[in-house]
Amino acid sequence: MNPRKSSSKRCEQTVLAQNGHHQITHCTCGTIHVTFRNFTLRMTPEDLAAIAEVTADANFVLECEPPDRHAAIH
Ligand SMILES: [Zn+2]
Repeated sequence: MNPRKSSSKRCEQTVLAQNGHHQITHCTCGTIHVTFRNFTLRMTPEDLAAIAEVTADANFVLECEPPDRHAAIH
């Protein structure tokens, strides 16, 4: 028998998506890890879906802005 208790359970992560310095992994404990360079957010899959939705909305609004405003930034 294994004397170790559940506190020693290990987490294994599966990469869901990766793009440059950005990576999203799914942990065996159910947590989603969203990494931006050296900064990691941990959240539930429900949070990820909500963030994906609001991020898409924000990007859509950005792309609908007049191009001259982008030219000033870039
Ligand atoms: Zn975990």
